[in-house]
Amino acid sequence: MQDLDDTIAAIATPLGEGGIAVIRISGPASFGIADRLYGGSGLPPSSRLPGTFVVAPLHGADGAVMDEVLFLFMRGPRSYTTQDVVEIQSHGGNLNAHRILQCVLTAGARLAAPGEFTRRAFLLGRLDLTQAEAVLDLIRARSDRAAAAAVEQLEGGLSRRLHDIEERLIVLVADLEATLDFPDDELPDPVLPELAQQGLAIHSDLQAIISSWEEGKLLRDGVLVVITGRPNVGKSTLLNGLLETDRAIVSEVPGTTRDSIEETLMVQGIPVRLVDTAGLRDTSCSVEREGMKRTKKYIEVADYQILVIDGSEQIASEERAWITGMPVDRSLIILNKRDLGEVVKGDEITGLPTLETSLINRTGVNEVKEALVTSLLRKVNLTARPQAVVSERHKMLLQSTVEELGEAIRHLKGEDEEGSILAASLMRGGLDQMSRITGRTYEEALLDAIFSRFCVGK
Ligand code: GDP
Repeated sequence: MQDLDDTIAAIATPLGEGGIAVIRISGPASFGIADRLYGGSGLPPSSRLPGTFVVAPLHGADGAVMDEVLFLFMRGPRSYTTQDVVEIQSHGGNLNAHRILQCVLTAGARLAAPGEFTRRAFLLGRLDLTQAEAVLDLIRARSDRAAAAAVEQLEGGLSRRLHDIEERLIVLVADLEATLDFPDDELPDPVLPELAQQGLAIHSDLQAIISSWEEGKLLRDGVLVVITGRPNVGKSTLLNGLLETDRAIVSEVPGTTRDSIEETLMVQGIPVRLVDTAGLRDTSCSVEREGMKRTKKYIEVADYQILVIDGSEQIASEERAWITGMPVDRSLIILNKRDLGEVVKGDEITGLPTLETSLINRTGVNEVKEALVTSLLRKVNLTARPQAVVSERHKMLLQSTVEELGEAIRHLKGEDEEGSILAASLMRGGLDQMSRITGRTYEEALLDAIFSRFCVGK
């Protein structure tokens, strides 16, 4: 359990050279510490109006001036953590920021743990847990869409939807428990079926929220696309074409890509990890064999596989074997080198989407991109406004809620007292799971797991 009464400090800006660095201080002693470091004249700066700033020299314990800085004072509860917060904006640079941080620590602050400012904002009620998690999503966002979804969550978009469902579930449990006070023969007939109906509506709204996980996963983790095929068929040329650079080595010697090359491409706001794998073929070279082992591993975990075939030559028997094992909804076959001939016919490959390309001339690259996008986005409606999306943690808790609620509805259908008692208890279990999402109920270990992923200073 971290203490909320001591005063924490950390550098909040990234390390390295920059215009300014921000050293953030939060806790009861933060104003006093700033006053001690203040090297200007007149009243101590914290006695001025909160929300104002002061430009002044900052001096260390021995009185030497360290830098000319800006002190910003935010009196709690109107601050990020809801505590008294001071931000010192110093000149940038690793050494300078560290020297000033050292002065702040010497003056009485403790170095903050990763994510401790946001943890305080959560513990002191300014943010709920989904909002605190959104802070990290926003910091890590790699596309406009991912950032917009994180902002929506930070603004409480997900919490509001969950809160609304929780309220309905609480009313439902209360109504159900009220029926238990009636003798069976006095209970009006439609009550239990009606309650079961309300339960079903909540069940389906929960399912709708869970389904946003798919988009969340795409935005956060992206998708893994592997490019496979025999050596020299044009895999690296395809990767370069998709990236529009020359990152992969293109060469006429078969087996040049002996290990996998990974690059990230942004497709409509979704990070696509493209892997150009070592060509699959029989070889005695141990380095190449190791590369192929890794290729097979990539194929196992890939979200999508592109098999490139030299369409100007006869299709090889191993290529036929690979095609048979490829999943229809997550694969694409490319018949490349069409400029050299059309020996393999498109309709020879049955059942899998197939494109004909001449990648050396960039012919077909856009079609490959389009096929990729159509397949990847099948489950996600990216034309809809970006909205808060659930994470793996939220999904697991929501799924347990849905399971408990589903079970409760089944018991309600029996329309007897024993079933109603069981149903109410299951619904209460569901509510308990939901309270863990927003953090009304939490364990320290969960907070440790969430906030340790943050950087120090956030
Ligand atoms: P990889 O081993 O499968 O990665 O194949 P590369 O991308 O390194 O390409 C092997 C060779 O085939 C290089 O010389 C490429 O320039 C050439 N190549 C790639 N695509 C085409 C194409 O569409 N037509 C022709 N004629 N040559 C191509």
